[in-house]
Amino acid sequence: MSLLTRLFVAVSFTLITVGTLAGTMATTPDSNTGCRTLDAADYLARQSLMDYVCYHSAPPGDPAHEAPSPDQLAEGIQWTPANGHDLVFSHTNSVYWVRLQVVNSRSSRQLWYLKLNYPLLDEVTFWHSGQAPADPIVTGDLHPFASRGVDYRYFLLPVTLDAGESQIITLRVKSSGALNVPLSFETPGDVISHSNHLTLTHGMFYGALMVFAAFNLLLFFSAGTVYYFYNAFYMATMGLFLFAMGGFANQYFWPDSTGFANTSIPLALALCALSMTLFGGSFLEIDKKTQPAMAIKVLAWCCAGFFALTFLLPYTKTILLNTVLTLTVIASLFVIALIRWRQGYQPAVWYIASWLIMLIGALIYALAAFGYLNDFLAQESLMQMAVGGQVILLNYAMVQRWRLLNQKLLAVEHNARTELEFKVHERTAQLRNTMRELEKANRQLATLSLNDSLTGLYNRRHMDNVLPELCAEARRTGQPLTLALIDADHFKTINDTWGHGFGDSCLQCIAEVLTRHVKRPRDIAIRFGGEEFALLLPGTDIHGAQKVCEGILHNAERSSLTGPDGTPARITLSAGIASLIAGEDKDAFFSRADNALYQAKQSGRNRTVVADEIPVS
Ligand code: GH3
Ligand code: MG
Ligand code: MG
Repeated sequence: MSLLTRLFVAVSFTLITVGTLAGTMATTPDSNTGCRTLDAADYLARQSLMDYVCYHSAPPGDPAHEAPSPDQLAEGIQWTPANGHDLVFSHTNSVYWVRLQVVNSRSSRQLWYLKLNYPLLDEVTFWHSGQAPADPIVTGDLHPFASRGVDYRYFLLPVTLDAGESQIITLRVKSSGALNVPLSFETPGDVISHSNHLTLTHGMFYGALMVFAAFNLLLFFSAGTVYYFYNAFYMATMGLFLFAMGGFANQYFWPDSTGFANTSIPLALALCALSMTLFGGSFLEIDKKTQPAMAIKVLAWCCAGFFALTFLLPYTKTILLNTVLTLTVIASLFVIALIRWRQGYQPAVWYIASWLIMLIGALIYALAAFGYLNDFLAQESLMQMAVGGQVILLNYAMVQRWRLLNQKLLAVEHNARTELEFKVHERTAQLRNTMRELEKANRQLATLSLNDSLTGLYNRRHMDNVLPELCAEARRTGQPLTLALIDADHFKTINDTWGHGFGDSCLQCIAEVLTRHVKRPRDIAIRFGGEEFALLLPGTDIHGAQKVCEGILHNAERSSLTGPDGTPARITLSAGIASLIAGEDKDAFFSRADNALYQAKQSGRNRTVVADEIPVS
């Protein structure tokens, strides 16, 4: 911002005693100078100090420009009454002589202070004429801070007046740029109370700025997000700049570095512009390949270049250059934020609002610092309010940005979860289908492996599976279990006579007969060899089984089969029947049925034989 122009001000005040005119003549203009005398005891008169102040502007060439002290000023020097206005002059090479005549109308000796409420004047010299005139106070930024009469960031001249005493205070202010000489005449009590109020507000402002900066730095260390660092950097540099502008840096940081008091201001300004640029670039999430990103890069390099130039060029040039640079940076960031906002980047709204506040505050502050506006103190407070408002808005903008980021993350997470759920669903459905097909294939396989392909009856494997179970069940429940082995008689002859194909048809015919006679749900008909069949009849005793077998034999014999040559074919069957007896295992059980079948064959075929209930040894 603006700032400073480091004005060289030289002020001198001569205190001339006008003893006898004390009191009664206080407000009457001096006939020689036209300046009125201030009654220091009059509160209201002190409030309108500038009605009593006169000044003389001495441009280069004017003898007063080079005069080393008030007594070297020409006799008839022209004094101009300030007429109630602050002494604010923009861009001047003149030396300003300021004159104030004061009188103490009280009946006792008292102390007042003439206060110059602007901390950044290069050369200020105070004289006052008293009964025992003191040496002039020669101070300003070009002198160590200790040269000030009182350890205070503004210039204070103690003025002690005896009862009725009058003095002339002369002040010489020299400045190479703008000149700002806001004056007040205060009692020690006033000085202390004003100082207290200002200390409180400044303390709160710089304290809040430091806390925000430290907080952002901590956020940077914990989150690793770089714009937190740039935000802390910005607040630190902005704080440093205002600290220097307010005279605090000169008082506390470098009180003895007279040259640096000036240079520190454009330096802090360039740093401030750099931090604004870096923070803006990072906060606004600018795409690296776009024009705004290029602009940010150029601005950042300019800031770095101007920072370096500050060490090389004279102060009067760098303060102007860096002020222009900073205003350019603020305006550019404002435009870039607008572009980002139009691109739909929501946090840019808060950034724009904060930058607007900053732009207005900075412009007013710059105008005041360069001497185009009165009341630098009020503008300083306004600037602090602007920076405070900006910092709050920027931090709010960061919260908004964080919220947006969080929303994006949640949306990404939600989408990922939905997609995952969908995929799991899809895969589960696929798996279920595959399993269903597998089950079906298994069932087909099981059917194929347990059934005989020619007749559709169960095969030998199935009989091997179920026979042990059925035996165990019969033993457990005491229910009967009967096995009938049925064999086609002279089947070889059928094959030999009509061929193997016809033989197969006969086997299918026998299977149909078996199936027809096996009616109970748990009865099982099996083809367990070439022309050999078996019936497993749980819960059927030997007599029931014999009946079933005779029915089968009967039906088979009567089945009207005709061979391929048209001649009738006769099928007869022999059956051996056995019921499980106590303590018998499955092999013995099967052997008894087989023996019975053998007997049926031996005894002429086409018959049933019931096995003896004698265990096979
Ligand atoms: P027996 O009365 O003593 O049982 O005489 P058999 O001729 O029936 O007995 P044998 O054991 O001598 O011959 C069985 C015949 O059954 C032999 C074979 O030609 C026939 N055979 C076995 N399996 C099949 C088959 O799957 N299809 C056909 N067409 N014939 C078969
Ligand atoms: Mg046979
Ligand atoms: Mg046989």
